[in-house]
Amino acid sequence: MNRKPIPYARQSISEADIQAVVEVLRSDWLTQGPVIERFERAVAGHCGATYAVAVNSGTSALHIACLAAGLGPGDTLWTTPNTFVASANCGLYCGASIDFVDIDPGTYNLSPDELERKLDHAAKDGTLPKVLIPVHFSGQSCTMDRITELAGRYGIAVIEDACHATGGSYQGSRIGSCAFSAMTVFSFHPVKIITTGEGGMVLTNRKDLYEKLIRLRSHGIIRDPAHMEGESHGPWYYQQQDLGFNYRITDMQAALGMSQMKRIDEFVRRRSVLARQYDEGLRGLPLTLPSRHPDAGSAHHLYVVRVPAVSGRTRAELFTGLREAGILANVHYIPVHLQPLYQRRGFHAGDFPHAEQYYREAISLPMYFGLTDDEQAYVIGTLRKLLS
Ligand SMILES: *Cc1c(COP(=O)(O)O)cnc(C)c1O
Repeated sequence: MNRKPIPYARQSISEADIQAVVEVLRSDWLTQGPVIERFERAVAGHCGATYAVAVNSGTSALHIACLAAGLGPGDTLWTTPNTFVASANCGLYCGASIDFVDIDPGTYNLSPDELERKLDHAAKDGTLPKVLIPVHFSGQSCTMDRITELAGRYGIAVIEDACHATGGSYQGSRIGSCAFSAMTVFSFHPVKIITTGEGGMVLTNRKDLYEKLIRLRSHGIIRDPAHMEGESHGPWYYQQQDLGFNYRITDMQAALGMSQMKRIDEFVRRRSVLARQYDEGLRGLPLTLPSRHPDAGSAHHLYVVRVPAVSGRTRAELFTGLREAGILANVHYIPVHLQPLYQRRGFHAGDFPHAEQYYREAISLPMYFGLTDDEQAYVIGTLRKLLS
């Protein structure tokens, strides 16, 4: 086999991307310079949000979003079990408890029916969450109209984990517009839609949240005398008002992000072509292909197929067969509540049966901007062989 291994995801870096980073390296500012704000404005503008705060990872973005929403000890955060651990860990960082809402077995996103049922119980028991984090799994939006309506009934803050969905849309508005949430979080890890190496962002339309996010990103320090407690000591003076962090992104990373933002529509277009080609190429095989919600324009971060029992092959056999053919498939996700840390916190196998059943069958096939038609045809051909 002299074919190069095909990963499940990979960044696309152009000459212009490289030039943008080099320019910053020759400039006066490597961090906290002018490019960060330009990058924030570019993303906010693309999404139709008023404010954006860039940070050093999607995980940091989730953390400060939870803090800005007021999440703390004694509170509870709900999210989906079918996500990366960071969507739940951000609640633990704040000292809050975590609970999960099972997925819709059709879309693999947090189920609004389950949410309604669980909220009903929680309202009676006095265990309502303070924050709800729906995750737009694989790049396809959750049914935000219902989720937001349900959360609104009980005064729960909604933070969209849109780490898969930069460039996606829902009911005609861009993901990140915060039309259905207090805040939306993106990740710019290299496997995601656009990259800054490591990086993330929180978007919001609320000035109060924006100001909190800005403070939390950089130690809880402010420099504007108008917002200080007491008198300023002089032009050098700053004041720490909250316990914040150093979650700043660098100007090199922001420059890469700015340059990648120019390519985002092209990125998502190619991904949607690849998704359609998979749909066509895999038709007729004993695999469950992804479903498309009519309200959602997916960013196509992942292309997940399910290997049901009737296929005659187990997921593990198919996974190994692909690996042996140089196709580095992946699995998204091991349900978070099955992780030992969460088991020690009281969760059990069987708690969220739809997420667990989905996990047993799921494989993520290669899906990224630079995947060629030839490589994709090889993936499809290999699957056909393995399932014959
Ligand atoms: C990637 C990802 C994160 C974390 O983002 P990082 O930038 O890697 O910290 C959080 N949630 C989801 C759903 C993700 O896919």
